[in-house]
Amino acid sequence: MVPLIILQEFVITMIDLHTHTTASDGSLSFEELVSQAKAAGIKAISITDHDTVASAIRITGKEPIEVIPGIELSVFDQAAGYMDIHILGIYIDPKNKVLNSKLKAITVARENQKKETIAKVKSLGYDVTFEEVKAKAKGSIGRPHIAQVLVEKYPQEFPSIQSAFDKLLGNDKPGYAERQIGFSMKEAISLIHSAGGLAFLAHPYIYKYDIEQLIADFEYADGDGLEVYYDYIRNQPEARLTDTQNNELIAHVRALAAVGGFLMSGGSDFHGPGKAQTLGTFGAPDEFLDKIKAATQ
Ligand code: AMP
Ligand code: ZN
Ligand code: FE
Ligand code: FE
Repeated sequence: MVPLIILQEFVITMIDLHTHTTASDGSLSFEELVSQAKAAGIKAISITDHDTVASAIRITGKEPIEVIPGIELSVFDQAAGYMDIHILGIYIDPKNKVLNSKLKAITVARENQKKETIAKVKSLGYDVTFEEVKAKAKGSIGRPHIAQVLVEKYPQEFPSIQSAFDKLLGNDKPGYAERQIGFSMKEAISLIHSAGGLAFLAHPYIYKYDIEQLIADFEYADGDGLEVYYDYIRNQPEARLTDTQNNELIAHVRALAAVGGFLMSGGSDFHGPGKAQTLGTFGAPDEFLDKIKAATQ
């Protein structure tokens, strides 16, 4: 009996509060993601597609693991100078009317941004059309869909999705286009709140902005939490971080969360098998979820 009890104490359970499906730029459907997360031993996942709730709305509560409705909103705020900051909304009501009407408007802005990106890519000598890109997407269109077309049509130059980002589509690369109309930080957070959710600053160390200023502005805009656990090594390979450096980033964000009184979250940013992340290998400890749940009451 005793060894069994000791073993139980060492069972590691994991939650993953940042995942994508085919509703945005992930490659698994809602059902596939849930069943693969269960098989990977994950206790709870949040579905956080880019600017859409098309998969989150399919949660019935009868899934074999806890599935939390979420979203990942992109902030494009020229006035504040914050471009392409990601805010995760956890425990949003995917049926919320205000949220859905704003998402409809942002879909148009997102598509226009991708058209601009495609025009830039074309002017750089690559024959890619909006129709080809749209055909790759089952839901909201993202840069990974443009990358997919480049990999298929120009495999010599773009042997991988990552190489298309490294050469053309990354935020400081020649094919990148800003979104002309987007949420400010305050609007994104208010929208998440009005849909009953909590707002977390996603992957705080991915941006070109000063992290402490960014977090101060996020707090001022009424943000609730920070995505503490994030795998910068696999999700941002161009930064070439070691395990030790990644752990240092996590520890720093954790310290900033403690100082600012923020909730803490974490997740893989899983986009599908064969992409940067493997389900069940990176997540956050489950006690984070207890605190997040308590804050939604
Ligand atoms: P979008 O919403 O169109 O801006 O696309 C954002 C998605 O593109 C992210 O969720 C990642 O999947 C991917 N992405 C963005 N930047 C990079 C990068 N530098 N390397 C690889 N993938 C990236
Ligand atoms: Zn994505
Ligand atoms: Fe993101
Ligand atoms: Fe993401």
